Amino acid sequence: MSDTTTSGAATSGATDGVATGASVATVDLDAARAEALAAIAATAPGDADALDALERRYLGRRTSVAARAKEAIKDLPPAARPEAGRALSAFTAEIRAALDARRAGPVPAPVGPPPLDLTAGGHGRRRGHLHLVTQTRRALEDVFCGMGYEVVEGPEVEDDWHNFEALNIPPGHPARAMQDTLYVNLGEPEQVLLRTHTSPVQVRVMQARRPPIYVVVPGRVYRNETLDARHSPVFHQLEGLAVDRHITFGDLAGTIEAFVSAFFGRPVRSRLAPSYFPFTEPSAEFAAECVFCDGAGCRVCSHTGWIELGGCGLVDPNVFAAVGIDPERWSGFAFGFGLERVAMLRHGVEPIKTFFENDLRFLSAY
Ligand SMILES: [Zn+2]
Repeated sequence: MSDTTTSGAATSGATDGVATGASVATVDLDAARAEALAAIAATAPGDADALDALERRYLGRRTSVAARAKEAIKDLPPAARPEAGRALSAFTAEIRAALDARRAGPVPAPVGPPPLDLTAGGHGRRRGHLHLVTQTRRALEDVFCGMGYEVVEGPEVEDDWHNFEALNIPPGHPARAMQDTLYVNLGEPEQVLLRTHTSPVQVRVMQARRPPIYVVVPGRVYRNETLDARHSPVFHQLEGLAVDRHITFGDLAGTIEAFVSAFFGRPVRSRLAPSYFPFTEPSAEFAAECVFCDGAGCRVCSHTGWIELGGCGLVDPNVFAAVGIDPERWSGFAFGFGLERVAMLRHGVEPIKTFFENDLRFLSAY
């Protein structure tokens, strides 16, 4: 606070012996206030003896700062006294409040967030994990490797011959309409395409090796499908092929039952129903007993007790002929199904687009 004269009556020129904003005559209340507050703050909270001594020193009746200021006011011109009196009252009130607060004891710790500790360690990075489709694929690969199969992969961009013709689907064959194809703008029109199934890898394997052949082919496939609850333009398949001597339909049925049970972790019955695929003869669709209701019928299995998983059959002799394997000496079976489909069944996930949306809530749940 400045020493500027504020009393209209004390304009004689000299500042000695007049009241100012915060001093009374020769007593400097500003300096005394600062000194008193510092002394109070330096005293242990609740130390009654020390605080009493400070009260006597600054506010006591006889020799304290306040007592001297009170005496000095009497020497001021009458017009200056009210102003000086108010300054003294303010000083007294402030010191007393500080003393009382200090007498009340230790100041409780402030409530709020703990102070930032710059020496604290970090929380580490959260580790990611494999996508549910990849987990499913690996679980199935494990099952088939345990049965003596080998995992092979092939290109996602194929030519018409591997994807259709070698699989007994010649140009103009109605079976091509079953798979709405996405063609690539490369080479001759409608000759290069995104594979519509993993079966062209069967063709490539049979061209490159001689039987016996036991392979499974996982991979991404593409169809010109409209996205709905169970269809997606991109999805994953797993396909199996066995070529050996004297392979029968019974081997196929037993293989399907074995892998379905291994994948779901308990004995699960399976069922074959007649169907048609160009590259197998005879062909069948295979279904597993509903794992949610044990065949009793529920919403998931549309109350049939069975869940369709995929297609299968014995390799058509025309396919063997296309790759130069003698169908009189060798026979084989093939099967295929969608990885998302079995993952949906095992984990109760729906709709299929959930697998491709990269929603962290879904990704971190599995
Ligand atoms: Zn069911």
